[in-house]
Amino acid sequence: MGLARRTILIASQSKWLRERAPQFGFFRRTTERFMPGEKVEDALAAAAGLAKSRISTVLTHLGENITDRAEAESVTQHYLDVLGRIRASGLPTEISVKLTQLGLDLDRGFCLENVVTLLKRCPPDRTLWIDMEQSPYVDATLEIFRRAQQVQKNVGVCVQAYLYRTEGDLEKLISLGAAVRLVKGAYNEPREIAYPLKKDVDESFYRLSLMLLSPEAQRAGVRAAIATHDRVLIRRISDWAASQEIAKEQLEFQMLYGIQRAEQLRLAGEGYHSTVLIAYGSYWFPWFMRRLAERPANVLFLARNFFSN
Ligand SMILES: Cc1cc2nc3c(=O)[nH]c(=O)nc-3n(C[C@H](O)[C@H](O)[C@H](O)COP(=O)(O)OP(=O)(O)OC[C@H]3O[C@@H](n4cnc5c(N)ncnc54)[C@H](O)[C@@H]3O)c2cc1C
Repeated sequence: MGLARRTILIASQSKWLRERAPQFGFFRRTTERFMPGEKVEDALAAAAGLAKSRISTVLTHLGENITDRAEAESVTQHYLDVLGRIRASGLPTEISVKLTQLGLDLDRGFCLENVVTLLKRCPPDRTLWIDMEQSPYVDATLEIFRRAQQVQKNVGVCVQAYLYRTEGDLEKLISLGAAVRLVKGAYNEPREIAYPLKKDVDESFYRLSLMLLSPEAQRAGVRAAIATHDRVLIRRISDWAASQEIAKEQLEFQMLYGIQRAEQLRLAGEGYHSTVLIAYGSYWFPWFMRRLAERPANVLFLARNFFSN
């Protein structure tokens, strides 16, 4: 991992910076590129706009590492309200949650209860997605996913291609017929557990995508969500899928709001399942910093907004 990326990821965890960033207009202006707004209404309005282009959406309320039970309960309550709004709107929209926002650092059982509460409110034809956070949370996240899936099937989990362990985790998830979102991984992980080189992460991502799309996975009822903006990988995976006669609508690509918009539209226009994850909320700093770390040009964008003050 490059030094710049590592530095930005370390800064993303700074409480000092997080508390001060919102005061600066240039931070806010740059954030607007990746977020339609801080309110759920902003996210739903963006989802309605994307639905017109046959793009489905996943909403996520920004926040992580909650240390107070009441706060985790209020996040659960917030998502219950969002699920009600989604149902009422009829939009092709799902939600994605971070377990540390639902109390994972406090008590695993409490966190599971919150997930199950949401799952029970989730329409049966929609998936409740669980994000994957830093490596110390992987075991707990997979365990909570498995226990939730025993209660109700329509729950999905994210796995990260940069971790060496993911191939083994994926085998188990495939045998469960899980909904899986595959990503490269957004955190600062040590080389003992994660591929340090981007080219190795990319190859791992390709291999894991093929596992998710294999006949065995499809027979088990796996929903494969290939979450990347990497056009080379998207091309490789869609070419491979075509060679296996996998129908385009079976192939789901997920991207983040505001990144590779033309590619999102192209995929939807060509008949692939194209999904965009929309983040909203006031706790945007660590999330935004991870977006900066993913692409050095975003730092220049931030700098331009600084000088245009
Ligand atoms: C739907 C979705 C859900 C995600 N959920 C999680 C999660 O739960 N846990 C987790 O660890 N990670 C998550 N991620 C983030 C993911 O791990 C990567 O950090 C992120 O997607 C960047 O990797 P990439 O696959 O797009 O490839 P990269 O190789 O990083 O990027 C490929 C190309 O995409 C474009 N691009 C990528 N990122 C940006 C950006 N920030 N700004 C502008 N252009 C960009 C650039 O053109 C770049 O060259 C999620 C990503 C998506 C799309």
